[in-house]
Amino acid sequence: MATKSSRDRALLQFFVVVVFLFFAGGFLSIVRASESDEVEKSLKHVQQISTSNQQLASKELEELQAQQDKFTPAQLLHFRLIKASLLALFGKHQENISFINGFLNSEDEANTKSKFLYQLTISYLALGEYESALNTMNQGIAILPKVTDAIAQIDTLQSAIDLHNSIHAYQESLEYAQRMFDIQGSKLDISAAKCIASADRADIYVMLKQSSVANDHIKTAIEACDAINWHYISLIVESIGAIDLIENHHYQNGIDAGLTALKAFPESILNTKDATRLEESLATAYLHRGKLEEAEHFALMAYKTADSQKLAQQTEKSLETLALIKRAQGQYASALDYAEKAIEKKNALLDEELQKNIAYQRVKFNVQDQSNQVTMLERQNKILAIEKQLEKKNSENLTLIIALAFIVSAALGLYVWKVTLQKNVFRIKTQIDALTRISTRDHFLSCTEEIVEAHNQFVSLILFDMDFFKRINDNHGHAVGDWVLLAVCQTVSTQLRSGDLFGRLGGEEFAICLPDTDVTTAWQIAQRCRAAIEKINTEPSGVQFPLSASFGIAYLGLNDDRNFPALLEAADKALYQAKAEGRNCVVVSKSMGLPETPTPTTKANESSSIAA
Ligand code: GH3
Ligand code: MG
Ligand code: MG
Repeated sequence: MATKSSRDRALLQFFVVVVFLFFAGGFLSIVRASESDEVEKSLKHVQQISTSNQQLASKELEELQAQQDKFTPAQLLHFRLIKASLLALFGKHQENISFINGFLNSEDEANTKSKFLYQLTISYLALGEYESALNTMNQGIAILPKVTDAIAQIDTLQSAIDLHNSIHAYQESLEYAQRMFDIQGSKLDISAAKCIASADRADIYVMLKQSSVANDHIKTAIEACDAINWHYISLIVESIGAIDLIENHHYQNGIDAGLTALKAFPESILNTKDATRLEESLATAYLHRGKLEEAEHFALMAYKTADSQKLAQQTEKSLETLALIKRAQGQYASALDYAEKAIEKKNALLDEELQKNIAYQRVKFNVQDQSNQVTMLERQNKILAIEKQLEKKNSENLTLIIALAFIVSAALGLYVWKVTLQKNVFRIKTQIDALTRISTRDHFLSCTEEIVEAHNQFVSLILFDMDFFKRINDNHGHAVGDWVLLAVCQTVSTQLRSGDLFGRLGGEEFAICLPDTDVTTAWQIAQRCRAAIEKINTEPSGVQFPLSASFGIAYLGLNDDRNFPALLEAADKALYQAKAEGRNCVVVSKSMGLPETPTPTTKANESSSIAA
């Protein structure tokens, strides 16, 4: 078990360790921060001395490279950008290309990538690898939509403009200039883009010999450039204006404007293409003004700068101007010498231009091919989307068709049902007598005929007719007559069996078909019906009067000839006979040669009546 003192000692030790770690950690971070500051300082120093002391800059850069592991990502990027620009500046283009290509593929950030693509383009161009230059430039253009750094955007577009200008593809250059002009961002970014883009446009329109358009752009450029204190670009634009004046034969004005600009040129512009172009132009103007000494002075200046900067086009042009000046001076040998050199340069230049053009066409084809592929992909996507839409529509249509089919079949079903109902109504109407609710004549006859002809069995047929019915109508009215007809049918119906058929043959004449019934049973049934009719109480009709009906029976036994019309006729004759015999009686037909039937009394007090 630990004592109090040993616990205190442990606590103290723990405290000491924590304090040490705290200070050690702080120390380490301080060391790291100071190292980081060192790297930053060194990078800035290399950048500063790069123009004045190339060797020292290279040496310091190599030393820095040895510490690359300690760089923060931002420092690594800074280091790489400085190294790339220095390599280009020192003319080590091949090395620069290898250097940039070493990490470019792993670089995903658009702003950074676009900066290195720009550097790479410059080095490819310097080596005359136009196709690679154009391809690299195109890559830069392709990622432009993702680039937010306005300067990186301007650089990329500027390299495109320079490249296209060098092969006289001015229309394309103008399109890139338009894109540059439209760059959005901070006020400074917008002004910077407008300044450079307008300067480019001015330059292009001068080359296209469209002075008035060029002048508009010159004004815009100077305004935009001055707004952000980029006076040296304003000076370059002014020099472009001077060149334009001279090319349009306004020699003195051109000289005045040109000299003003040139005098104001800072050191950094003096060794550039812009300076040599102005100097050459001034030489031409002086030559035309007959001031050969000044002309030679500026022509030599232009040649010196162009030659030292390896500006082939400018070198050739200044050699040409020198030849003209020498000829004007009467120094023909020297003139010839310059002229020959100029021709030599011109040939090289034409070769170079041809190479550029070939590369341009090839790259243009590649770019077009790529854009065709993109278009094709977009088209395929569109087709897919349309197909999906169509599929959706089809399924919608299918649902619609199913719904429609359902509605149609429902309507059809309803129609069939209605027709059936209608048919039933018709059937009922044609089969059932409206007044008496028993079978109509046609229905009764056809059913009875079927029974008679289909079954080789007993069948009896009773016909009966109301006696003196006309009188009822006449005495009590038609309605009472109707009432009697209905009452008679209801009364007779109660006397019949389930298989018996009962129908109204017309007016007050009725018929009963008794299947499987021999004549004796038929006679009994007829008698029952007759008696029931006789007993009908007519009081409910409003009048009291006696009722009676006369009955005639015909029948067919087993194996008899199934002749329905003959049966009907026989029954009718029997009925006629019943009427003749005084009515309210039953007469069985003997006309069919049928066997003798029982002859019960048909009238309460009268004799039986079997037809003779
Ligand atoms: P008989 O005893 O000889 O049969 O004499 P009858 O008066 O019954 O015979 P007749 O054929 O002279 O008269 C039948 C009458 O039945 C004529 C007709 O106006 C009447 N009648 C026919 N159908 C109907 C009907 O649906 N309702 C009414 N109220 N009378 C009808
Ligand atoms: Mg009658
Ligand atoms: Mg009658």
